Amino acid sequence: MTPQFHPGLVNGPFDDPAVYVDFLYERRALLFDLGDIRALPPRKILRLTHIFISHTHIDHFIGFDHLLRLCLGRDKRLHLFGPPGFTARVEHRLASYTWNLVESYPVDFTLVAAELHPDGRSISAEFHCCNRFRRENERTEQLQDGILLDEEAFRIRTSFLDHKTVCLAYALEEKDHVNIMKNRLLKLGLPTGPWLGELKRAILRGEPDDTRFRAWWHAAGGVVERYFSLGELKETILQVVPGQKIAYVTDAAYTPANAARIVDLARGVDYLFIEAAFLDAERERAGERHHLTALQAGLLARRAGVARAIPFHFSPRYEGMEDRLREEFGVWQAQGVAETEGP
Ligand SMILES: [Zn+2]
Ligand SMILES: [Zn+2]
Repeated sequence: MTPQFHPGLVNGPFDDPAVYVDFLYERRALLFDLGDIRALPPRKILRLTHIFISHTHIDHFIGFDHLLRLCLGRDKRLHLFGPPGFTARVEHRLASYTWNLVESYPVDFTLVAAELHPDGRSISAEFHCCNRFRRENERTEQLQDGILLDEEAFRIRTSFLDHKTVCLAYALEEKDHVNIMKNRLLKLGLPTGPWLGELKRAILRGEPDDTRFRAWWHAAGGVVERYFSLGELKETILQVVPGQKIAYVTDAAYTPANAARIVDLARGVDYLFIEAAFLDAERERAGERHHLTALQAGLLARRAGVARAIPFHFSPRYEGMEDRLREEFGVWQAQGVAETEGP
């Protein structure tokens, strides 16, 4: 099965954080963090529908203006997520420009900013270009299990880390794929039709195998119906493939609480993007700055049992010493390291 999501760092490991996640079957993409994104071609930026920002230190949010400028005058609704205080920061960024001529734009570019609170509240506000980006339509919702976006194909979950300010880690969890084996359908004399979509949704909702399921289609004499158990259909015409998982973790102190949350969020993911800011020889300095060392990041990746780990956000002080950071981080794959080592 071809993976549906293709994640990658926008910049080199010493440059601003941003991970772009491209969708295979749609002209759509997601972004984790909004550092300098000028390396992305405009057509890729315009594909973005949701941007998940960890926190608003300047290297994680400076791409906002570039994004805004590209989107102006387009018929687009863009969702931004961030930590407590985020909607006011978006409001202030927008308020720093003069918008007296935008009413004449034929289309309405809209930003929807949501700030996520550790108590589960999500407070969002809209900013419409045609209304000069005034704050409006404020809403408060309650998140369940940190899930801030739940679509048919995937969900996004957040976890709250401590970086001497709230810093959000995110995970994209693709739901299981249900593939229909067309040759088997033919053999059973079952035509394709909307019932297959209903069947996929029933499987993804996790309905039990003994559920009676109606296959139906239009034929010359009217609607034809046949009934099966879901279990029977699973065995004969379906293949269920587990979805991919991607986690994005940055700017976190190596504390027991952070470590537990990171491992929990990233457990078994296909891709873990994780900051590896300092060499472990400067562990103390990393602690003062509330960042992870490469070794700490590697140990967390190891504890989470990830399939691939990609370090980034190297401190510029190690320019020319990238190999040493990568070598330390390599502990995530090393043999014979105590699984329990941690903060
Ligand atoms: Zn930071
Ligand atoms: Zn940072």
